[in-house]
Amino acid sequence: MKKQTGIILSAFACISFLISGCGKTETSVNENEKIPSFSINSHDKAEFVPKSKAAGSEAKYKISLEMDKKGKFRINSTTHIKNISTDNWKELVFYFIPNIFTKSNSPELATPSYVSIKSIKVDGKKTEFSLEKDTLKIKLSNKLQPNDEVIVNVQYDFTLPKRGLRFTANEKNFFLAQWYPMIATYREHKWNKEDYRVKGETYHTAFSDFEIQYKLSNNLTIISSSDNDTYPSERSGVLIGKDLKEFYIALLKEPNVIEKKIGGIKIRVFGVDKRKDLHSDIMEVASDALTYFQDTIGPYPHKQLDIILDELGMEYPGVVTASSIYRSAPVDSDILKSMVVHEIAHQWFYGVISNDPYHDAWLDEGITSFASNLFYAHYQGKEISMNEELFKDLTLPVNLPLDEYSLGEQSSYIYGKSQIGLWKVFQENKAERQVENFLRKYYENYKYKEVDTNEFIRFLKDYLNLNNDSYFNGWIKLDK
Ligand SMILES: [Zn+2]
Repeated sequence: MKKQTGIILSAFACISFLISGCGKTETSVNENEKIPSFSINSHDKAEFVPKSKAAGSEAKYKISLEMDKKGKFRINSTTHIKNISTDNWKELVFYFIPNIFTKSNSPELATPSYVSIKSIKVDGKKTEFSLEKDTLKIKLSNKLQPNDEVIVNVQYDFTLPKRGLRFTANEKNFFLAQWYPMIATYREHKWNKEDYRVKGETYHTAFSDFEIQYKLSNNLTIISSSDNDTYPSERSGVLIGKDLKEFYIALLKEPNVIEKKIGGIKIRVFGVDKRKDLHSDIMEVASDALTYFQDTIGPYPHKQLDIILDELGMEYPGVVTASSIYRSAPVDSDILKSMVVHEIAHQWFYGVISNDPYHDAWLDEGITSFASNLFYAHYQGKEISMNEELFKDLTLPVNLPLDEYSLGEQSSYIYGKSQIGLWKVFQENKAERQVENFLRKYYENYKYKEVDTNEFIRFLKDYLNLNNDSYFNGWIKLDK
């Protein structure tokens, strides 16, 4: 996995490489368009109706989390799950990612996780289950019919691994990503649960509500996807979150904390080393990025934006982490800044507009990278330009499921070639100056919806009045 680092780094580095001065192209009517009255400003046509991909399952999570002095967590998770598909269900399928890092599943880890499920109950009755890798299957003794609900209670203990991935701990700090049983989406008459992979995000969840009761034995700073965690932290409390794709928690030992309020949103930077100047620089670029994305795309969806300068560059609702790329050494300060900007942009493209990151990873990664590029062009007072040459040897489309890419090339497709392809469509239609407005309309149409490639392309074609699919040859595989 370490071999991948250089390639992923290059994908991130593209964020800055791709920006260079280029001539501004004036907006003009595309001569190839068949509609003579085509006007670049008349895109918000009333007749376009966005379609959301149905999640099939719906969940409300109520979880209690207790951490003892030795770093062992005791979890009692109660989830109300509703069948919003058209099928009867015989079983429920969850992601249970802590199990990936146990000794048997990750023998390479010197400090693996410990995971022990104490009991699983459905509507109060103990039930059979199977746990293999990150797939937790729970049998239903009575079929769950459409629109019916069950209550699933899972009691388990875990410790975090060291050098895990997202779900991990280091010498001082604890990072609880995907730490609870997360119900999968259900579509095309089956549970949409793919195998875990060490690269990319192989879990896909719908928007859910959360109530997390926590109790800590140590003095740690708790940072979470909720807006109601405050600094300094209380040792116990209740964290609430609504319409979140997942619920993230980090527990930090004596971080350096900087806070700043921008238009009702509190930005908090949590540094874990002594580089206080760097933490301040991060606050500056994060503030500029938040302001730009709010002005350009639409409102940031939370009241707090927490930036933790430790661990893998990664987005979670209301929280981003940034320091390294897939277990690399910490990145340099310029890459760190671009990483923070990238993860902040995900708050819109992942956090509010959802997509399946296994089957359509380019939709959040490509568009997030694209939006980050727009920010940097704005921030540095330059015109946006993308270097097509970097990705010219990549012959596959960008919207394949993750298992159809080699680990080495995956990022180049989903981060790199994807945004080049999208940019070219705007160039070919002389609509370069419409990209910010496009993102704004995309956000307006799809907030709290799930998009797939076909729906995105349908929207793009409507927006740019495209009347054929030739623009997507060579980079998008369209369903026939
Ligand atoms: Zn990303």
